[in-house]
Amino acid sequence: YAPLSEVDPVVQNIIDKETWRQYSGLELIASENLTSRATMEANGSILTNKYSEGLPNARYYGGNEWIDELEVLCRDRALKAFHLDPAIWGVNVQPYSGSTANFAALTALLQPQDRLMGLGLPDGGHLTHGYYTAKKKMTASSIYFQSFPYGLDPSTQLIDYSTLASQARIFKPRLIICGASAYPRDWDYEALRKVADEHGASLMADIAHTSGLVAAQELADPFKYCDVVTTTTHKTLRGPRAGLIFFRKDGEAHKDLEKRVNDAVFPACQGGPHNNTIAGIATTLLQATQPSWKVYAQQVIKNAQALADELVKHGYKLQTGGTDNHLVLWDLRPLKLTGSKVEKIGDLLGITINKNAVSGDASAQVPGGIRIGTAALTSRDMREEDLRTVAGFLHRAVQLALLVQKESGSKLLKDFVRSATVPAEGKVGAQQV
Ligand code: PLP
Repeated sequence: YAPLSEVDPVVQNIIDKETWRQYSGLELIASENLTSRATMEANGSILTNKYSEGLPNARYYGGNEWIDELEVLCRDRALKAFHLDPAIWGVNVQPYSGSTANFAALTALLQPQDRLMGLGLPDGGHLTHGYYTAKKKMTASSIYFQSFPYGLDPSTQLIDYSTLASQARIFKPRLIICGASAYPRDWDYEALRKVADEHGASLMADIAHTSGLVAAQELADPFKYCDVVTTTTHKTLRGPRAGLIFFRKDGEAHKDLEKRVNDAVFPACQGGPHNNTIAGIATTLLQATQPSWKVYAQQVIKNAQALADELVKHGYKLQTGGTDNHLVLWDLRPLKLTGSKVEKIGDLLGITINKNAVSGDASAQVPGGIRIGTAALTSRDMREEDLRTVAGFLHRAVQLALLVQKESGSKLLKDFVRSATVPAEGKVGAQQV
């Protein structure tokens, strides 16, 4: 029972350093959040000790009385948080992550080598939506299935639904995946349903990024039109790292879907569920059903819009010109800067952002933009005015990146790195810009 600091001071020290990094800097990674203390207590609990392969009341191990109660509770809360009728929707809460949730969903919906369409990675889609390059099929979703990416309209940078419909007529997919990792606007699920129906295809939404906002009913409802909805639990939903798969149970089209999804998660893709994580998800979902959740989600969006507005006022170019959700895609190409350069400068300043492809990038390997999200800073209770200040920091960071680029490899950069590598304890990194 000795504490970590006694048993393994090296790991404790790393945790302390990361704790300081998270709390002293400005966390603007769009896929991250700061989960609650209650969720972390559940996630770090004794439940990690228990094996429970199978489903509630149908396990391959004894001793699962309380684990069954937990998993049923978590499922009930998941349906409640997303306003779903348990007669029509079911949910599997066991996926270890968003990627495994997606692969299990593909396993449930498709046969090997069936065809799927997802938003291309350079246009904001995720690896698990069928991504491959000219050289390599590097994701399971393109190795085991045939995939074709749809994209954005280059003039608006919005999903090009009519080209997608034409491409689907040629490609004839069995599955259309919607949802993205870097798309600042909402989705037209009804339009996608029509395309899917033309080909007898299934429609799956991966709402990993936006699920906290969907639960708050601040974005369009994918459940109205989709057969399956997957999500991670750790982005705007603010939970521990894991995934969920929601599946419809009604009508002939969804006959057996519940069994196919459950069998795909275990035994097809996973082993024993991480019960400590499921406890953390359950606590998160309880929080997501409180009235304060809607206030949080609304503030996340208002903050992203204030940040976008301020960057535009500084004269910068944003993909689609703004945002409807929690993220902003900043196109740095007019400045002749790469995303990785600005990401690096941000790290030095205690501002955490990530390089990201923007529509029209020649290569996804050299992204021309950065992605900025407001979920974590909103969890720290920041409001619009704070995000306008953060936009000012980002403006200064970019000006610094331009200066560094001009003086490439120069004394300026070396001096800067020497003086600002790690934010000194007690200071907020961004204020050192
Ligand atoms: N789906 C989308 C849209 C994502 O953005 C991500 C991760 O960023 C995932 C799935 C994968 O989630 P995980 O990292 O938990 O596997």
